[in-house]
Amino acid sequence: MKYEGPIYRPPSEANSLLIQATIGCPHNRCTFCLVYKNGPEYRVRDVVEIKREIDEAAEDHGFQIQTLFFPSGNTIAMDTRQLAEICRHARKKFPNLERITVYGSSQYIHQKGLKALQYLADSGLSRIHVGLESGDDKILRKIRKGCLSEKQVQAGKWVIESGMELSLYVILGIGGLEGSEAHALATARALNQIEPHFIRLRTFVPKVNTPLLEDVQKGVFKMLGPHGVLRETKTLVANLTCNSYLTSDHYTNYINVEGRLPEDRERVISKIDLALSKDENRFRSFFIGDQ
Ligand code: SF4
Repeated sequence: MKYEGPIYRPPSEANSLLIQATIGCPHNRCTFCLVYKNGPEYRVRDVVEIKREIDEAAEDHGFQIQTLFFPSGNTIAMDTRQLAEICRHARKKFPNLERITVYGSSQYIHQKGLKALQYLADSGLSRIHVGLESGDDKILRKIRKGCLSEKQVQAGKWVIESGMELSLYVILGIGGLEGSEAHALATARALNQIEPHFIRLRTFVPKVNTPLLEDVQKGVFKMLGPHGVLRETKTLVANLTCNSYLTSDHYTNYINVEGRLPEDRERVISKIDLALSKDENRFRSFFIGDQ
């Protein structure tokens, strides 16, 4: 298997076959993201090459492959017919394949529209991981996400309507001290409208080689401490009315909260309250991320 540039995959794809369909990220402007800041430039791999790698993997492990993930950062931006072609090819070659997943930002999902998403779902694409990050437009502009809330909500609804599963990521603390409450409330509003299958929480950690780290170091961006992040999480969860699975299993988080919403909401809030009763120095310390 040939890989080029950084290869990231969601924790839920730990057992998946990874075949790279695209390289880099066509947006590459988010102020918190370091992944492709040093390149490589975005490009789509040759479909013939991708299909050849699918064939090779099928020869070696055809019956064992149950989940397939196509990296890199925004594979949904790939031409719809080409993405559909590699999905159909994989479905043919791996008889026990249950899921094909990609990363995709709302702006590229929105550009595709519902019909193209339905075509992809019919071709075998089954799940998209999307960085919502926040539902607050002021924050989305500041972090240069490339898409505001209205489009994020529409894109998310289309993914669900197409029949695919939607996994949305939220960055706790991305609004800083000043924007914390607005971030929690607007994000809950967006999530309630979309009703994604999964809500995955990550806590903001400044990363090397990013504009947001520079703002943190200059004191322009004031980060939340552990209690601030926990209070923000509590406001977010308390305002969620959607039917979704909430999870936060990630090294950046201060605590792990997990459960089915809305049923488990009170249990999750009690866990946050318990964590809030502990001294702040009991949580992980500040660090600058390098991956
Ligand atoms: S967060 Fe995603 S969309 Fe933004 S630059 Fe990084 S890979 Fe690209």
